[in-house]
Amino acid sequence: MRVATVIGNRPQFVKAAAVSGPLRREHEEVLIHTGQHYDDELSGIFVRELAVPPPDRELGLGGGSNTAQTAAMLGALELLLAEIAPDVVLVYGDTNSTLAGALAGAQLLMRVAHVEAGMRSFDRTMPEELNRLVADHVSDLLLCSSEAALANARAEKVAGVIEVVGDVMVDVAVLLQPRARERVEVLERFGVRSGEFLLATLHRAGNVDDPNRLRAAVELLGGVHEPLVLPLHPRTRVRLDAAGLLDRLAGAPGIRLCEPLGYLDFTSLLCHCRAVLTDSGGVQKEAYLAGVPCVTLRDRTEWEETVRLGWNTLVDLDAQAARAALRLPAPAIRPELYGDGRAGERVVQALTRLAAGPPRGGRRRR
Ligand code: UDP
Repeated sequence: MRVATVIGNRPQFVKAAAVSGPLRREHEEVLIHTGQHYDDELSGIFVRELAVPPPDRELGLGGGSNTAQTAAMLGALELLLAEIAPDVVLVYGDTNSTLAGALAGAQLLMRVAHVEAGMRSFDRTMPEELNRLVADHVSDLLLCSSEAALANARAEKVAGVIEVVGDVMVDVAVLLQPRARERVEVLERFGVRSGEFLLATLHRAGNVDDPNRLRAAVELLGGVHEPLVLPLHPRTRVRLDAAGLLDRLAGAPGIRLCEPLGYLDFTSLLCHCRAVLTDSGGVQKEAYLAGVPCVTLRDRTEWEETVRLGWNTLVDLDAQAARAALRLPAPAIRPELYGDGRAGERVVQALTRLAAGPPRGGRRRR
């Protein structure tokens, strides 16, 4: 079986790290990097740290609006996928690269598999929600992280086969959190002590693109008055700078701003912090796995189980609600929600069955 995997941004490198290893043991993979994230801190370091194979093809298509970027990717992927002629096109998550890979594969009548299918925030103002909706509806195989995701896909009557395989990011976290926890020199670098600081991330378009919301986020983070490490996503840095808020944030008491961190350094801070403040999807889940309470800077989440169990509190950008959430004690129980750390193997088994089956959906070439 030949699989063409389309990835492009930071979390997709983490997800591919869980699948590429088991996939390449028995099959051929052609890894296509669209270039959606091109900075070393958001892509290259993951290749080095997580043993993701270096991309076989790089499209270099970062920048531009969501629509322009997706259109450019579609054009490039149509040609490249036709040349590679894979048995399956594999996409992850909810980015422009996910949408472009899934749609280009489907248009070429190739079998398409989507990992992290069925996730919904039910907020169609989020570009990620639009990307995963379309990707799910053109996919032949929907590989879900949880039963809740499977129920979402079923409720929408998707055409493809749906399976729960567990969460591939969990595979990486289960493997690397213990090692990352030992990297205590990272704490020294930021002058923080285990259990006595907060870790934050902020990058969603809904929070950083609107200057009023960005200001509210700065007030919130600057107002916690505790040691707080904030690795700044490049998009957020640009928006803060443009809004004249960067110095204000950098000067707030307790704040330690830095460049985006590699996975191991970030995970070390995640494992040792008192709580996380984030608008990231992946970080909410990783905090749960690390047993760290999470305060989510959004009003909805795809990872609703973590909220139901009391490990995650949605505060949007309400500073008072965030301070109240940070005072909550950690819940006593933390059941296994997203699989056992072997999702990557199940993804490969499911792809193998897909490739052995009939070609795409019985559709005829025109
Ligand atoms: N991450 C990282 N360094 C950082 C911030 C995040 O390695 O400075 C990792 C994090 O552990 C998780 C992934 O990046 O695995 C999440 O990516 P992001 O928040 O960009 O995307 P989302 O999950 O929101 O799609």
